[in-house]
Amino acid sequence: MTEKALDVVVVGSCMTDLVSQAPRLPKAGETIHGHKFFIGFGGKGANQCIQAARLGVKTAMICKVGKDFFGNNYIQNFKDNEVLTDFVSQTSDEATGAASIIVNKEGENAIVIVAGANMLLGKEELQEALPAIRRAKVLLCQLEINPQTSLQALQMAREHKVKTVFNPAPAISDLDCNFYTVSDVFCCNESEAELLTGCSVADVEDAHRAAQELQKRGCSAVIITLGSQGCVVLKAQESKSIHVPAAAVTAVDTTGAGDSFIGALAFYMADQPAMPLEEMARRANQVAGVSVRAVGTQTSFPSKRNLPAELF
Ligand code: ADP
Repeated sequence: MTEKALDVVVVGSCMTDLVSQAPRLPKAGETIHGHKFFIGFGGKGANQCIQAARLGVKTAMICKVGKDFFGNNYIQNFKDNEVLTDFVSQTSDEATGAASIIVNKEGENAIVIVAGANMLLGKEELQEALPAIRRAKVLLCQLEINPQTSLQALQMAREHKVKTVFNPAPAISDLDCNFYTVSDVFCCNESEAELLTGCSVADVEDAHRAAQELQKRGCSAVIITLGSQGCVVLKAQESKSIHVPAAAVTAVDTTGAGDSFIGALAFYMADQPAMPLEEMARRANQVAGVSVRAVGTQTSFPSKRNLPAELF
């Protein structure tokens, strides 16, 4: 299987979301009764990979989970979504990444994230996965694993002329400047753009300026997503960015919208590489726009069969 070309390879995180709904958030030392519990699949890396896979390209995930129930369950989830799992490794040294989430009736939440096995993904696993990385059309990374592992993966992709997409999320203010020069497409949301540039990004005009600043730091193209306002796209070797608006939709849950957008973007870059970046972004807006109309993260990500044919 690894001898065949792959479209999208993701080096990133897997998290199991353990969600309890309760009337209110408990105080320290307090036990309260909730009314609903569910387990969800999350982690930015896995979310983006699964969105790309559901649109119909060959994908592989390079990640680390625990040798535990949640790890086994996550591997099955990848298989159910036709993601290649040859490079999903399991460790006994840490548990599968988990997010314990409590949501009150106002929709506010308290979250504890334990990255666990995600932080053990390193150089060795990347070397083992080199056959997949060099056969990829697009490699996608975020910051929910050790940043040095993400950077190394992007550099390996570049050496093998694989297109790179970097999503600096969750954002860190002291991002290693090599991340910029190794990104063919640098894609972040408003708050990440704000933290990285140190300038407020509250509207389309601000996003145009932030995209120019990020491009100055060395990335080829920049996309800044703007929630219901769509996104701003600054193409390689251009100085003026384009606002690509999103269609108005009735949003019920925007969790994971950014991951749906980036997974879709990677899909178009692999499937239709000659398409102009703003057209890819317009279509990714539509895919992510469908995801916000349903509850959940991966559960809300649409598949090819649920989307209009003109998106393909
Ligand atoms: P993040 O989830 O990282 O905060 P955004 O909120 O910017 O990312 O959303 C990513 C993309 O999802 C947007 O560019 C847009 O295409 C789509 N989207 C998000 N919220 C809405 C919304 N309320 N209506 C329509 N599209 C949305």
